[in-house]
Amino acid sequence: MTTASVDVDSARRAYEELVGRGLSLDITRGKPSPRQLDLSADLLTLPNGEYRAADGTDTRNYGGLKGLPELRRIFAGPLQVPAEQLLAAGNSSLELMHDTVAQALLSTLPGGQRRWADEPRVAMLAPVPGYDRHFNLAERFGIELIPVPMTETGPDLDEVERLAAGDAAVKGIWCVPKYSNPTGVTFSDETAARLAAMPTAAPDFRIFWDNAYAVHHLTEVETEVADILTLCAQAGNADRAFVFGSTSKITLAGAGVGFFGASEANIAWWLGLIALRTIGPDKVNHLRHARFLKDTDGLRGHMRKHAEIIAPKFDAVDRILTEELGESGLVSWTKPAGGYFISLTVPDGTAKEIVRLAKEAGIALTPAGATHPHGDDPADAIIRIAPTFPEQAEVEEAVRGLAVCVRLAAAQRG
Ligand code: PMP
Repeated sequence: MTTASVDVDSARRAYEELVGRGLSLDITRGKPSPRQLDLSADLLTLPNGEYRAADGTDTRNYGGLKGLPELRRIFAGPLQVPAEQLLAAGNSSLELMHDTVAQALLSTLPGGQRRWADEPRVAMLAPVPGYDRHFNLAERFGIELIPVPMTETGPDLDEVERLAAGDAAVKGIWCVPKYSNPTGVTFSDETAARLAAMPTAAPDFRIFWDNAYAVHHLTEVETEVADILTLCAQAGNADRAFVFGSTSKITLAGAGVGFFGASEANIAWWLGLIALRTIGPDKVNHLRHARFLKDTDGLRGHMRKHAEIIAPKFDAVDRILTEELGESGLVSWTKPAGGYFISLTVPDGTAKEIVRLAKEAGIALTPAGATHPHGDDPADAIIRIAPTFPEQAEVEEAVRGLAVCVRLAAAQRG
């Protein structure tokens, strides 16, 4: 049953048996599980009446556009941004990316000659497979997305350099530098250095360095990425990087804190614009996060508790795929050392069919193609697995079911 020449009849029988079980499982989105959220239960009672920050600020009141200093200090190291240039904002980094693009369209960036809205064309490089919400956001603003293949060390830099140098419409690149969504790849130092130093035709080119998984290790090894802001500054491109991060998968996904870091000039540009949008962020939330996490070591200890809960789920996906499909020669998959996703590569032209079969069997998967701009994976071969949210037993059942669907789709294709 686990050979490439699996016959259609037995694959179909196995599939019918799967459908007959009436499952209802969901491995679509990278959400923390309730047990992970419980790790931050204390946030629901903090700051426990003590609303004054370290400098005496009454966090209940307006003001403090940059966010609470003690929280920014805790995240300065992990996000590799000096605290003075790191802003703590609302509950989401995606909204910061959204607003950054919107502001760049409407107000000339440091180093730029005109607003992006006044350019005849604006394009961004989209490493694929990548994060669907980055792509959706760019599409919503009419920004063209140019796919660039991901490699084991980050986006294909020869391709990135060629496109960035050759086309002034190319204004930026989406990057998830550590434990990338969905491949789990961490950018090599060389990748980061080349991104920081490469010539770009656009003077206001920006690296959207979305370090969403900066501290989200699954093993004892705490993988590091290069410090992009310093590399950019050393290369004479101090304003090139925008750094994003958040506590969404550290504390409470819906009630965390988003961070934005950049050069002094970029931060001044941003603060001037954002001051029109808000009088200040939710500093009470910042304060309770600072009290809860305490310091960078507190953050590290907290992340180890997450790993204890989710690493077994990642291990189960790997073990079951190996047991069910390892010998088949049909698929390959990533074994990430951190982050939230596993990327499964299935035979060309079968990903959509597998997702459809799984859905009919009560197993919800991220739509095939979501990892590519416009939801279009030309090879129709990538499926993203997000094992964190369901219970351990559900993950196992979903992946066994997924294997049945892979075998049927492959057999039907012949
Ligand atoms: N960036 C990446 C790479 C992500 O995977 C996610 C969550 N899936 C986000 C950003 C969203 O972050 P936030 O909750 O801070 O908006």
